[in-house]
Amino acid sequence: MNRLIIVVPCFNEEEALPITIPALSGVLNRLISGGKIAADSAVLYVNDGSRDKTWEVIAAAHEQDAHIFGLNLAGNVGHQNALLAGLEFAMPLCDMTVSIDADLQDDIDVIEEMVDKYIAGADVVFGVRNDRKKDSFFKRCTAQGFYKFMKILGTNTVYNHADYRLLSKRAMEALSMYQERNIFIRAVVAKMGFETDTVYYKRGERTAGKSKYPLKKMIAFAWDGITSFSNKPINMVTGLGIFIFVCSIIAAIYSLCAHFFGQTVSGWTSLILSIWFLGGLNLFAIGLVGQYVGKTYIETKQRPRYLIKESLTDQIEK
Ligand code: UDP
Ligand code: MG
Repeated sequence: MNRLIIVVPCFNEEEALPITIPALSGVLNRLISGGKIAADSAVLYVNDGSRDKTWEVIAAAHEQDAHIFGLNLAGNVGHQNALLAGLEFAMPLCDMTVSIDADLQDDIDVIEEMVDKYIAGADVVFGVRNDRKKDSFFKRCTAQGFYKFMKILGTNTVYNHADYRLLSKRAMEALSMYQERNIFIRAVVAKMGFETDTVYYKRGERTAGKSKYPLKKMIAFAWDGITSFSNKPINMVTGLGIFIFVCSIIAAIYSLCAHFFGQTVSGWTSLILSIWFLGGLNLFAIGLVGQYVGKTYIETKQRPRYLIKESLTDQIEK
């Protein structure tokens, strides 16, 4: 029978969880009583090294509800790895997972639709926002710019899809074979090539608490997404280097000719500017290559992506 585990990564979500936990349990119970999923389906909350009372809240909920389970990671490993911890834990225990953020910005009412599509044969069901009015103007622009930029760089992601999705057992097993440290799950899933489907919903506001993705983290996340998936930035810098080299040769020939005909080329400013320009470009190119070298370094160490400190999963494993 279709056993579903809903996986929820949580980082400092003590304010959101008291709203999220009953809401998700409500959906789960509805699906169970509707006969769509197995009676031993569950919600798995993954505490990503929170510094507040998140784990206590999860533990208390686990005491009260036999469908609620928790994983406590040993430290903060970031959204993507926390999600992977939950998915890899759930994989052998269920037929499908739905991953969702703890702040319920994604409409939980479409989980049922996701399950329907799974039953109809989809291995991956993407939750796609068709309305971002509730996000701030800034968040909307940066996020959408990011999807477009990724596309230009040749990384296929599903437009306006974050990490709200259903995965079948087969898809989870495939995902767990991507052993990279700098993993960008949404691009990996889009690339796997299984039977996919989509459900649409309106994106809401955070139920409580603040965004755990301030600008600094968002830039790091986007940068990771780009450099883990595409070598195009390196190619672009190489191309630009060649272009500027050709330009400088043309300029050299031009000034030589000018000198020959007795017209001295005056222009201290342009000289200095070009030195600055080329120096900056050089540094940028070296830095960019360095980023890739650094990534390779991290990957070669083969360190674990997360460590589980504690788990409240006794009955789930029966
Ligand atoms: N999150 C996490 N680890 C982190 C940062 C965030 O597990 O280091 C979780 C967070 O608790 C939430 C989800 O990832 O469930 C998405 O974070 P958030 O809602 O703050 O991001 P936003 O929606 O603002 O992009
Ligand atoms: Mg959010």
